[in-house]
Amino acid sequence: MTRRRRIYEGKAKVLFEGPEPGTLVQYFKDDATAFNGEKKSTITGKGVLNNRISEHLMTKLSNIGIQNHFIRRLNMREQLIKEVEIIPVEVIVRNVAAGSICTRLGITEGTPLPRTIIEYCFKSDELNDPIVSEEHITAFGWATPQELDEIMTQSLRVNDFLSGLFCGIGIKLIDFKLEFGRIYEDDEIQVILADEISPDNCRLWDIKTNEKLDKDRFRRDLGGVEDAYQEVARRLGILPEGGPGDLKGPTAIQ
Ligand code: UDP
Repeated sequence: MTRRRRIYEGKAKVLFEGPEPGTLVQYFKDDATAFNGEKKSTITGKGVLNNRISEHLMTKLSNIGIQNHFIRRLNMREQLIKEVEIIPVEVIVRNVAAGSICTRLGITEGTPLPRTIIEYCFKSDELNDPIVSEEHITAFGWATPQELDEIMTQSLRVNDFLSGLFCGIGIKLIDFKLEFGRIYEDDEIQVILADEISPDNCRLWDIKTNEKLDKDRFRRDLGGVEDAYQEVARRLGILPEGGPGDLKGPTAIQ
């Protein structure tokens, strides 16, 4: 058996060379990390769920014209994606205060924000992903002003769409992180959505109870991490292959 060439290994995913030029295979691991890798564990089944959840959300976004790197799911843990040149900026979109904005600005967790706030962080494990302004991004050439404009417009569209989608299944979209990348197609450079969208990089709270259905269950040792991810997948109507019987959907009764 020939081994595929490993292009990059991150904390939760591995990227392998794809079958055609311009493609990669994104493999979802069960590994979970928090606090810039200081806390590490394995959450059985997380990779399978995130693969399905990200496939589902990226496909829905494509359907409304938000271009992204997702091509198709290959199997339980892998998806085929377009190879992009990742822009080294994490885009954080916030609707309700949670996490770092609370400590930074002294806001109580759960406070609705006066409007959607976008923050940018420079992608650097060494520096602990510091928050940066648009000025830093354009001055240091991480993205051009036009690209940044596109990133902001797309991020707000993603937020509007996902907020509605999650609301429809009884989940509040508190905040999330996006990454974008450049693709070179037909002599044009385009900025498209990349990475993943899953409970690893979104805060998702049950609308009625405010129960956390995301990675904060791991970060804060709340337990039930896998069940929470499973619940998000169940509400989205996604069935993990070989998952519990109650996720199999309706069957015909004679
Ligand atoms: N986030 C992420 N990766 C990061 C930092 C943040 O996916 O490296 C997500 C996180 O899951 C949350 C949102 O971005 O949904 C905002 O995170 P925050 O800045 O509050 O950081 P945290 O509290 O996770 O340190």
